[in-house]
Amino acid sequence: MVKNGKGGFYYGLEILPENWYNFVPDLPEPIPGPINPTESNAVGAMEKIRPKALQEMEQSREKWLTIPKDVFAKYQLIGRPTPLMRARELEDYFGITARIYFKREDFLPTGSFKLNTSIPQAYFAWKEGFQGVVSETGAGQWGISLCFAAQLYGLKSKVFMARVSYRQKPYRRTLINLYGGEVLPSPSEYTGAGRKMLQERPDHPGSIGSGISEAIETAINNPEYAYVSGSNLVHVLIHQTVIGMETRRQLEQIGEFPDYLVACVGGGSNLGGFMLPFLPEVKAGRVKLLAAESTAAPRLTKGEFKYDQSDPFGYTPLTKSYTLGKDYVPPATHAGGLRQHNGSPAVGVVRHAGLLDARAYSQDEVFEVGVLFSRLYGTVPAPETCHALRAVIDLVKEVEKVRKNAVICACFSGHGLLDLSGYEDVYLKCFKEGIY
Ligand SMILES: *Cc1c(COP(=O)(O)O)cnc(C)c1O
Repeated sequence: MVKNGKGGFYYGLEILPENWYNFVPDLPEPIPGPINPTESNAVGAMEKIRPKALQEMEQSREKWLTIPKDVFAKYQLIGRPTPLMRARELEDYFGITARIYFKREDFLPTGSFKLNTSIPQAYFAWKEGFQGVVSETGAGQWGISLCFAAQLYGLKSKVFMARVSYRQKPYRRTLINLYGGEVLPSPSEYTGAGRKMLQERPDHPGSIGSGISEAIETAINNPEYAYVSGSNLVHVLIHQTVIGMETRRQLEQIGEFPDYLVACVGGGSNLGGFMLPFLPEVKAGRVKLLAAESTAAPRLTKGEFKYDQSDPFGYTPLTKSYTLGKDYVPPATHAGGLRQHNGSPAVGVVRHAGLLDARAYSQDEVFEVGVLFSRLYGTVPAPETCHALRAVIDLVKEVEKVRKNAVICACFSGHGLLDLSGYEDVYLKCFKEGIY
């Protein structure tokens, strides 16, 4: 095996973990517990509508949680482990000595890392006797992954997709239907919460938050449906730790250790799953962390660390995270996966403890690197992923000024083949303005 020097893909041997890593006992500060809202629209609803196993995982203090055999087999079915890639051409393009690695979650069949959690969530819902799952989705990646996983277990599926993405990304809807799921634009006319939002603002673009309100209401009224979440929560991040654990082992096998880890951040699940398995070294100051968010929802750079709800209608418990306020409606952008007013409490704790740096990028800044990456490698990155790429490029240029041979590793969260309308809009605009 060629050490360090090789470009291209590296899969690694025997690296698919048999346990998820529960990072909670290793966090620098405890996660402030959730508070039930006093005037909630649904006090205590969550306990009934979310599978018990997931609620238990949310509270668990066991460091290693066994991946059920069936879920492990399905991780193999979808192609885990995903490859780690050394981006030599990108290094050469910028003429740097740093080594850049990407963990390629876009290799999964639905095009993003979301399957790592949709499969175990569908599995536990099925095991507990639910007949269907209902959830929200931003740009649709979570929706696709959930509906695919649901039908693996013979479950029905229903997703509320942010209205702006519903319009922008019709093929994501096609995929949801192809996997046997049902997709509704949020806000919709089908729920009380949706009707109220539309009444207040008929042109409401929707967001992950609006979808949450509608999905929870649906689960409350249809008890055969489990309500599940695609991000934010501890159990979701725990499922996603397969990303970071594989990365760690793949880097170890080629004799590397990262100096910097970079990921884009929406609810925080790819970032958490990718970075938190390195927590002991992060606390020891051996690894630095950088989050890339969207200027459309700049909660880590501009938000406050405080208790807030995840949905505007007020169904969800109050959790402490970086938030822009539950009534903040992010402007319409193509990076639907990052359009959320708040985020993961676990990621919030890491940021609050001073262990996570963050930068916000605008749509034009990120699509520019999406085009560069596409031309170098053929792979079109998802708009969300472009945020991480942008941060890698900025970071690498800065680091190069102070030290040589740094190792920078980023999570490549998904591909953008169903985001081409975004590329078309932004790319064509930039092209006219002479940026390319
Ligand atoms: C969902 C998604 C994100 C953002 O979600 P997180 O929970 O913050 O990780 C980023 N990239 C892609 C491709 C996604 O599908």
